[in-house]
Amino acid sequence: MTTGAPTLLGVPYDASSSYLRGAAAAPAKIREALRSPAGNGTSEAGIDVLAEGALADAGDVEMVEGSDPRAAITEAVRNVEKRGGRPISLGGDHSITYPILKALAPVNPNLTIVQFDAHPDLYDDFEGDRFSHACQFARIMEDKLATRLVQVGIRTMTAHQRDQAKRFNVDVIDMKIWELGRRPKPGRPTYISLDLDGLDPAFAPGVSHPEAGGLTVRDVLSVIQSVPGPIIGADIVELNPSRDVNDLTAFAAAKFVKEIASRMLETR
Ligand code: MN
Ligand code: MN
Repeated sequence: MTTGAPTLLGVPYDASSSYLRGAAAAPAKIREALRSPAGNGTSEAGIDVLAEGALADAGDVEMVEGSDPRAAITEAVRNVEKRGGRPISLGGDHSITYPILKALAPVNPNLTIVQFDAHPDLYDDFEGDRFSHACQFARIMEDKLATRLVQVGIRTMTAHQRDQAKRFNVDVIDMKIWELGRRPKPGRPTYISLDLDGLDPAFAPGVSHPEAGGLTVRDVLSVIQSVPGPIIGADIVELNPSRDVNDLTAFAAAKFVKEIASRMLETR
């Protein structure tokens, strides 16, 4: 199982976005917010994740013109894992979760994924693209890269995706059920996939697909802080800096980096 040091990995890839590009610029903005003198590195559990030896940084996945970006992502995550790190990948668009899990699933059996998102991302294909950021969880479940998928914050479920959710036995906690008090019960081990558009646009305006009526930052933190077992990896995706307002979304993403890294260190 992947239980080493939390390790940032930038994934500057947004070519599988169906609407707006821009998420490729996000890793640099999230790192900048994380290290901003406006705040400090201490999590709400009292762990300084910016202290020496706490949170490592493997740099960005190198995207070579003409080569397969998904293969590059899988290889970079495999390298982090082999060196004993637990990747916290900074997107990029949400399509990156599939190549990330291709690297992590074989060494982490019985995985639960907790996905925060306005969208289920379960399309069989989207506008002819089976690797779109609207399809990655269909690919993940088809390839059996996780035992369980729990989705939180969903509020755009189409009829086709409802069928897909049934087919893959997805536990969908949509916003209406969330409001009634349902909460995810993550398994051991857990992978967290955090699409920032799961948040309400009031908290996270800097996304390509804003959808009103979403989660608060505090809602997401409460789930992260209550994950019982080891968190073997995470991704924070879909920040689009060109849509952000005063870096609010970048700062929210940095807050999630801090709290996920802290929870990783607490539950290893
Ligand atoms: Mn989304
Ligand atoms: Mn998504």
